[in-house]
Formats: sequence, C-alpha cells, structure tokens
Amino acid sequence: MLTLSIAGRSHAGCVREHNEDCIDWWCGPDGDRALVVVADGMGGYAGGEDASRMAVDLCMARLPSVLEGAPADAGTLAEALSDTFLAVNAAIREARESQPDQAQMGTTLVVALVAGDRAMIAHVGDSRCYHWTGDCLCQVTRDDTVVQNMVDDGSISAEQAGRVPFRNILTKALGAEDDVQPTIAQFNLRPGDGLLLCSDGLAGALDSGRWPAHLSGAPEQAVDGLIQASLDAGADDNVSVLWLRADG
Ligand code: CA
Repeated sequence: MLTLSIAGRSHAGCVREHNEDCIDWWCGPDGDRALVVVADGMGGYAGGEDASRMAVDLCMARLPSVLEGAPADAGTLAEALSDTFLAVNAAIREARESQPDQAQMGTTLVVALVAGDRAMIAHVGDSRCYHWTGDCLCQVTRDDTVVQNMVDDGSISAEQAGRVPFRNILTKALGAEDDVQPTIAQFNLRPGDGLLLCSDGLAGALDSGRWPAHLSGAPEQAVDGLIQASLDAGADDNVSVLWLRADG
C-alpha cells in the first residue's frame, strides 16, 4: 500500500501583481488516495482569477467522492474526470455570457487522481504533470499549444520552443469552446515515485533539468525549493507547483 504526501504552493512571481493560477489538493484520511489540481487562468486578471478558481472549486466539490469508498475502476475515474472538465467548461461559458467584461475568461486545468497504485491524469492547456520515477522526471501531459504542434511537426526545435513570442498560445482551453474533452493518461505508481503538477510559469523560469535536485526531502521543502529557485531566476509569470510523493 502506498502512502501519499502532498505539498503545494502558488506564487505571483517577480513581475505580475496578480496571481491567476489556482491550486488545491485533497488526501483521503488513510493517505492512500488523493486529488491534486492546478489551473492557470486567462482573460484579464479578474477573469483569469475567476476562471482558475471556478475550475479548482468544481474539482474539489466533485472528485473526492469518486475516490472515497471502494476503489473505483479506471472507466469510472475517467468518466468522472471528463464530466468535471465539461462542468468547468460550461460554468466558464455561462460566466462569459453573463459578464461582458469577462468575455475572454478561460483556464488551463490539470488534475491527477491517485487511488491505490493507479494514477490518472486529465488535462487541457499547458499546465503540466510529470511522473518522477526515481531517476527520470517524465512529462506525462502534452501541451495543447501552437508551439507544441510546431515542435511535433518539425517546424521548430524543442530548444527554440521556449523562446518564440507566441509560446503561450493555446490550442485548447476551458471556456473557449462549447465542447472540450480533456486528454487522459494513466499509469501505476511505485514506492518512491512522485507526481509533479505545475503551471507553465515553472518551466518558463527554470529549466526542467534543474527540478529533480529539489525533489528529495519533505514535500514542503521540495515545493519551497522549486518556487524559490524560480523567483531567484526572475519568474516573469505566476508559478505554481504541486508535489505528491508516494512512499511504500
Ligand atoms: Ca501562466
């Protein structure tokens, strides 16, 4: 049986006055199941803050109950994730229509459900999930961005991707269209593994090759170390990090 421990922190960064990222997490009373959520809002700071908060609140309201009780099968977890993303999308669409000054609001969303040794990840946008396997920090999510499409079709290199001016343009966001399906991935966790969820501000400030050095030690320490290193590097975007460690 894995025992999960979680820490998270969100910071406005060195330049921005507002933090449009929003994070939260839930860990079951026996420490063997968990929900972690990161959202990065957009559409003017008020709209961005509202959109990411709506996304996180809906996840926290709907998903813990799916994890409680007898372990749910993969199909049930995936359906709950898809339904929740649809509910977030609908709520933001409604807010956009009723508040003309927030007509551009939207958000990314990445969610991890952990039950037993199963991890299921759903995402829309460029907030990411990485799977730490003890020697590799493997990116599980594929950014829904124009730049990622260009890297994949060979138009630009991965090295160029971090520098192009349109690197933040998303191909998919919650609130942007009537129907948005998350991309869902699942894999098993082993003792010593971890999940790192983050907004794009972390990779923007700090090369991902430098992240593993911060991941040993208590989860709070890992998160504080990553945030501080991002601030030391001059983080020009909001930075959010959630770190879930699975111990045997
Ligand atoms: Ca961001």
